[in-house]
Amino acid sequence: MNKIPLVDLQAQFADVGDDVRAAVEAVLASKRFLGGPLTEAFETAFAAFVGADHGVVTSNGTSALYLALRALGIGPGDEVITCPMTFLATVESIRLTGADVVFVDCRDDDLLMDTDRVRAAVTPRTRAVVPVHLYGQPVDMDGLGVALEGTEVAVVEDAAQAHGATYRGRPAGALGVAAAFSFFPGKNLGAIGDGGAVTTCDDDVALAVRMLRDHGRRPGAKYEHEREGFNFRLSAIQAAALGAKLPHLSAWTERRAQVAAQYDAALVGLAARRVHQHVDRASAHHLYVIRVADRDRVVAGLKERGIGAGIHYPIPVHRQPAFASLGHAEGAFPVSEAAACDILSLPLFPEMTSEQIAYVAGALRDAL
Ligand SMILES: *Cc1c(COP(=O)(O)O)cnc(C)c1O
Repeated sequence: MNKIPLVDLQAQFADVGDDVRAAVEAVLASKRFLGGPLTEAFETAFAAFVGADHGVVTSNGTSALYLALRALGIGPGDEVITCPMTFLATVESIRLTGADVVFVDCRDDDLLMDTDRVRAAVTPRTRAVVPVHLYGQPVDMDGLGVALEGTEVAVVEDAAQAHGATYRGRPAGALGVAAAFSFFPGKNLGAIGDGGAVTTCDDDVALAVRMLRDHGRRPGAKYEHEREGFNFRLSAIQAAALGAKLPHLSAWTERRAQVAAQYDAALVGLAARRVHQHVDRASAHHLYVIRVADRDRVVAGLKERGIGAGIHYPIPVHRQPAFASLGHAEGAFPVSEAAACDILSLPLFPEMTSEQIAYVAGALRDAL
């Protein structure tokens, strides 16, 4: 059996490589390297995919989240609530606005933001909550809505792992006032480099993101800069490559669900518990995450058998050295900290064969 990586982009390119190359050629022919028709076409198509009125592409997912928060006017003196069980970019984006980060722990079953803890975390300074649809499964958005009832607090989704996911039939990316997506190559929809997007149904937020990503210029303006922005634009080559891949995304998501279901069946009876999947949500199955005792030994055992297991993430954000200044001691968010010690991500990509899935499951049984 060959090696099985966590994500196999080579397998994906066997399928879509020609379409991506054609898209890159089209940009080279057009000489519109920033913005232009291919970028606008992708923005429109991605917004439609998400069921939002606007899609605005950005340099990456981190800047997308930052820009969504900035577009809402969030800055120094404000508080933004999120969960420490995430990739640290979520927290970097909040911090870059100048706002303070307020953490609430995750739930033990699904490792998603514990919305029951949100109400107590809201203060007069709270301006936004950033729910992270971790591993592709949406946060309990109705629970979050209840927690925020009677407040003016905005919900900005971190949908970086959740392209195509749904919550009670509604797509991730249209569940709050705005959402941030990442097109990092390993994400469910990946560019050939970095990329990101904000989706929103709010015209003012969309315009603000467009301006802030392009030096504060209104679309079409050349010399007048109305706001203090920055350069967070996306290369047209990336937008075109994404446009070539987008038509495959629904089929890829379906195939991911099948891979996950085959794992579910193969892992019955093993001492490995998958993070809980809610029946009212369709995950994008970005990652297949299980919890095992003696995790590091299991990861080593899988590696010996040629399997690239991952850990997302071994250090909760509040315990990262980079955020030591926030002053959260060990034990501050015990559910996230406990999960960080026993989670493990198995290889999951749409091109995975049944034989590969069975091989991983068998290797996991041996390693356990
Ligand atoms: C990938 C990711 C990001 C950041 O996206 P980049 O495109 O890498 O900047 C943010 N949040 C989460 C949860 C992610 O997984």
